Amino acid sequence: MIGVFGGTFDPIHFGHLRAALDCLQVLALDQVRFIPLRIAVHRAPPLASVEQRLAMLETALADVPGFVLDRRELHRDAPSYTLDTLRSLRDEFGPARPLCLLIGADAYAGFLDWHRPLEILDLAHLVVMRRPGYDPVASPVLRRLYLERVCKEPRCLAAQPSGRILFLTLTQLDISSTQIRELIAQGRSARYLLPDAVLDYIERQRLYAPSQPRPANV
Ligand code: ATP
Repeated sequence: MIGVFGGTFDPIHFGHLRAALDCLQVLALDQVRFIPLRIAVHRAPPLASVEQRLAMLETALADVPGFVLDRRELHRDAPSYTLDTLRSLRDEFGPARPLCLLIGADAYAGFLDWHRPLEILDLAHLVVMRRPGYDPVASPVLRRLYLERVCKEPRCLAAQPSGRILFLTLTQLDISSTQIRELIAQGRSARYLLPDAVLDYIERQRLYAPSQPRPANV
């Protein structure tokens, strides 16, 4: 089984990394593919450039067994639709290999607004990672979809290539990229929220920095 973890990663942080590691081990995935988006569909564009986000991902994922940096969305000029990404993964991995789309509870709440959500479920399972501060209560339509597709045990994902929805409670880390960007913009330190090497890169690049630099606390 392959985990598919899309995101802005502006920047990547321990909330992403720990959730991905938990999924890798709890679901016995062969790999988790981190797929940075190029053009966001449902949100403001990232502050960091594609090159900067890639550099931070490369630094964070280097030599982690099972973690793969997948650049396929970066080669596309069109908006990054998950459906297109999954089609391209299906072309690469074939029709039988289970694909597990890993999304946080915040992203799941808006899932029905994504481009052709039911076709997404034709191509992949949905693994929803509970996230601190996000109530998993869903709209009635999403709730109905969940009840039709629910799967309670990780092993039921292995039985078919796509189509099921699994909720997972993983290590709860209340960390977001927004929080990290805001801390840095306020001249505060973001240390211990993301890998030191990524933070060092952010500092070297003066990414997310306030216009008037102030010394960091840590
Ligand atoms: P931002 O604050 O800029 O919106 P983010 O921290 O939510 O960013 P993204 O790159 O947008 O990070 O998220 C990619 C995916 O990772 C999404 O599905 C999101 O729900 C999930 N995710 C992000 N942070 C966590 C976390 N702390 N725990 C679990 N899932 C997370």
